[in-house]
Amino acid sequence: MPNQFLIPNSKFLILMGPPGAGKGTQAAKLVKKFSIPQISTGDMFRAAVKSGTELGKQAKACMDAGKLVPDEVTIGIVRERLAEDDCKNGFILDGFPRTVEQADALNKILDEQGKKLTCVLNIHVPSEELIARAVGRRICKKCGATYHVKFHPTKVAGVCDECGGELYQRADDNETTMKNRLDVYEASTRPLIDYYKHAGIYSEIDGRQAIAKVTEALENVLTSVKE
Ligand code: ADP
Ligand code: AMP
Repeated sequence: MPNQFLIPNSKFLILMGPPGAGKGTQAAKLVKKFSIPQISTGDMFRAAVKSGTELGKQAKACMDAGKLVPDEVTIGIVRERLAEDDCKNGFILDGFPRTVEQADALNKILDEQGKKLTCVLNIHVPSEELIARAVGRRICKKCGATYHVKFHPTKVAGVCDECGGELYQRADDNETTMKNRLDVYEASTRPLIDYYKHAGIYSEIDGRQAIAKVTEALENVLTSVKE
């Protein structure tokens, strides 16, 4: 893509990492800091499940099993979402791409839209910590804020600090499904690390640090990166 088509001060970001690494938690911080939308395919699928659409029915079966939703379906919803006006100057992809086919499709979509990835931020957390993170995860029904019963508890148990909404636990945040999700990550998503290293836009952040420290590390990378 010729440079004259690139958008100045834009931030087209991928937040990568295994399930439970802290992508959603950190995306929420970056949304506020950079005023760009978070595009979470997991959230999009959960919304479709809630509304009972055909997409939701197909996604639910995969999500409950800890498997990936088929590439063509996932790529289709991302293609539509990235064409929306609020993605013009940037976005944070959270949970996409998860396969090499999705990454190839993303390159094509961005080329078509005259956009170029700014960087890929991989939050690294060892797998033994991820099950505990997922099993203790709680999400606000009203505003979507993410908590953890032990690592990031709310002030009042079961009640969102931000909006007072009720917290819930995701159906797939149980030990059995999480093990499948981690296997899927190893087989299908981990290869994307080399994929983006080769593209020269990859940075790794230690996700074992406290939430605020991870945010600081991500922001440091983003302020030093050439757009
Ligand atoms: P992902 O979006 O990558 O699946 P989340 O952001 O939902 O991960 O985080 C998974 C769980 O781990 C949540 O319960 C969250 O509160 C908790 N968490 C996130 N970041 C950290 C951290 N740095 N240290 C400890 N727990 C964390
Ligand atoms: P997440 O919210 O990112 O943990 O995703 C929850 C579930 O949604 C995954 O286990 C998959 O079943 C599905 N999903 C989310 N993103 C994708 C994707 N990019 N490709 C395929 N399936 C996905």
